[in-house]
Amino acid sequence: MLRYHTIPVTPFQQNCSLLWCDRTQEAVLIDPGGDLGALRAAVQQRKLKLVALWLTHAHIDHAGGAGQLAREEGLPIIGPHQGDQFWIDGMPQQSQMFGFPPAEHFTPARWLEDGDTLTLGESQVGVRHCPGHTPGHVVFHAAEIKRCFVGDVLFAGSIGRTDFPGGNHQQLLDSIRTRLWPMGDDTVFIPGHGPESNFGEERRFNPYVRGT
Ligand SMILES: [Zn+2]
Ligand SMILES: [Zn+2]
Repeated sequence: MLRYHTIPVTPFQQNCSLLWCDRTQEAVLIDPGGDLGALRAAVQQRKLKLVALWLTHAHIDHAGGAGQLAREEGLPIIGPHQGDQFWIDGMPQQSQMFGFPPAEHFTPARWLEDGDTLTLGESQVGVRHCPGHTPGHVVFHAAEIKRCFVGDVLFAGSIGRTDFPGGNHQQLLDSIRTRLWPMGDDTVFIPGHGPESNFGEERRFNPYVRGT
């Protein structure tokens, strides 16, 4: 069975999630944007074995700590989709623009594609490509616990910004409608910022995607 714990990191309060298999104690960190001390403490406190870092997209608040953590712990970086290569290449400029400490460059061990499946311990997690906020944005669907880690695609009551380079509003709406909604109204999502919600709630009340 999968379990998770979410830790807000960086001045942007980005929701980094520690996800693990409670049979094997193998764990991943989804979007380790920074505050590596707090992330390491969360892993150690639960006596977990970190096996990889998973990225939804390559904005600095989500990916800024990945390079250093991967190097120091000898971990592979999985994701995002190759469409975010330009955001990884631009990590130094992102650091400057948002006043973050310099982020280490990294190369993902594996780019993700729509429909990929990742194994964590004795569980499987599905990957959906959800472009719009960034071209290479992916989400992680843990169907067995009805959870989806959606990064900056969808928030409780809002949706991701599309005014950055490579952003596309209509594409984001299409991603939400065709790739998130089919996971089911009762699926709880963990957004990149702010509180959890479920897809049914957003389909009814979120002004950006209501009734879609
Ligand atoms: Zn973002
Ligand atoms: Zn973000």
